[in-house]
Amino acid sequence: MDRVISVSVGEVALKKGNRNFFEKKLLNQIKVATKDLGRPNVYRERGKMYVKANEDNLEALIKRVRKVFGIVHVSPGYKVNKEMKSIEKVSLKEIEEIRKTKEIGTFKVQCKRADKKFPLNSMEVARRVGGYILANTEGLNVDVHNPDIYIYVDIRDSAYIFSKKIKGYGGLPLGTNGRGLLLLSGGIDSPVAGFMIGKRGVSIEAVHYHSYPFTSERAEEKVKDLAKILSRYCGQIKLYSVNILNIQKEINKNCPSEEMTIISRRFMMRIAEKIARNNEIDCLITGESLGQVASQTMKGLNVTNSSVDIPVFRPLIGLDKTEITEIAQDIETFETSILPFEDCCTVFLPKHPVTRPKLDNIEKSEGSLDVDELIDNAVENMRIIDINI
Ligand code: ATP
Ligand code: MG
Repeated sequence: MDRVISVSVGEVALKKGNRNFFEKKLLNQIKVATKDLGRPNVYRERGKMYVKANEDNLEALIKRVRKVFGIVHVSPGYKVNKEMKSIEKVSLKEIEEIRKTKEIGTFKVQCKRADKKFPLNSMEVARRVGGYILANTEGLNVDVHNPDIYIYVDIRDSAYIFSKKIKGYGGLPLGTNGRGLLLLSGGIDSPVAGFMIGKRGVSIEAVHYHSYPFTSERAEEKVKDLAKILSRYCGQIKLYSVNILNIQKEINKNCPSEEMTIISRRFMMRIAEKIARNNEIDCLITGESLGQVASQTMKGLNVTNSSVDIPVFRPLIGLDKTEITEIAQDIETFETSILPFEDCCTVFLPKHPVTRPKLDNIEKSEGSLDVDELIDNAVENMRIIDINI
């Protein structure tokens, strides 16, 4: 008898002709996500994926594996020989384990048979296992319509027995859908944005802008911490750390103060576009949400957007702050995001930022800056940090 985690896929299963490609990617992502937990064997058996575990690493493995995109739920369970005696015994063990922590009165055994040569059919297996449990326990009944718990028996090359289903995030395996560059600030929104696009199979790299020494080193540490939390979902993340203090000073000196924010944002976008083009990245990702702050009005977003010529994905565009916060709490970035370290934008923050900027005016203001040279300098001096899971 082996301890295993069985993995249920969602959309991956719908990929018909490409299923093998998606499953291989998923298998690989599970291996990457678990390699520091003893490099467990991750394998496929008749179209289903399993992670071999032991009692010591089971809980840690569940926590990791459920975060891998493409997985709808994970089930801790047992792998046993394909014979009724073992199946009955382990099913009984599983239900007894559950009764230690949860009061249950009814159960139902559900059997699936990928191996059609197995001598008993699914109904017969379920009936036999149910009968065995009834005969060896007290205070339990079978309820086929609305049971307190299910005992699942999967008959493949071996038999698999499990009961719990722990939710994953669904989506598609990383690396099945191109690459994106996340503009990662220290706030609540941008990590959530990265999570959401990563969930659709996009490999994520990140760029962070700071104004050191106006902003503290702790502010950058915070962003690294956020990237680290994201990497539990998105795998290894390359973080480009770009100092834009010089650019901000130039804007401050040469442009109207109420345009500071919007012009800074256009620089951020342009620098990100340049990094993306240099690294074969297909899109930018931001945490912008329509109307959330002055620079994210419809007009503000349009003026920001027109600084670049690369697709920009804004997965939070229609979400309220409370909805974004809920996701941030769920993916465990929230607590880090709310730590009080300065973001670069606050350094030269105007008292009255324009809320309805006109592209003509902004472009005219930018005319007094050497945009290309400022960008080239910032990119030349950026640092690259590898964030590992
Ligand atoms: P967040 O919570 O993500 O900081 P926000 O509501 O504070 O978002 P803004 O500061 O206007 O909004 O930023 C909007 C988006 O621009 C962010 O979600 C992020 O994608 C990007 N951005 C802002 N500041 C930075 C920064 N210092 N480094 C990298 N990206 C940034
Ligand atoms: Mg911010």
